[in-house]
Amino acid sequence: MLPSALYYCCMLDSRILMRGSPRSDGIADRLAQRDAVRCFEGKTKLAGQWMFCLSRICRPTMGEACRTPDVCGLTIIRLHDTLAIGEGSVGKTDALTSWRTGMDRAMREHRELSYLCAACRMMLYKRDMAERQRVWRELPSFFDSVLAGWEGIAS
Ligand SMILES: [Zn+2]
Repeated sequence: MLPSALYYCCMLDSRILMRGSPRSDGIADRLAQRDAVRCFEGKTKLAGQWMFCLSRICRPTMGEACRTPDVCGLTIIRLHDTLAIGEGSVGKTDALTSWRTGMDRAMREHRELSYLCAACRMMLYKRDMAERQRVWRELPSFFDSVLAGWEGIAS
């Protein structure tokens, strides 16, 4: 199976991965055991990647364009903490999902997070994009598979 198909399967409930999904004729569509094992292992790795992305996005290192690095550095650390303990953060396997919506919502809802300057906000958006590109490139490795040509597909 292609890594992208395995990735999709990792969004499925574990019971469906084990038992399969019933078709209209009553027969269950089921993954080969080898692919099911890859998905269970992949789920764990993708959940780790989801949180790893957040940590890499919210590194408190500001770019040269930032004029308030002390304020922005602290704000980025607080943003990370707010998102990391937020609802739905732990155990989520959809590591290709952008953190941008969550970042924007947190900055709207928490006054102390609204102090982030425009340059740092753009920096976080760029990191978010870069992280999703990295996860996509590395996708085969999460399923213990090497796919010739994936680099070309992924870029
Ligand atoms: Zn800044």
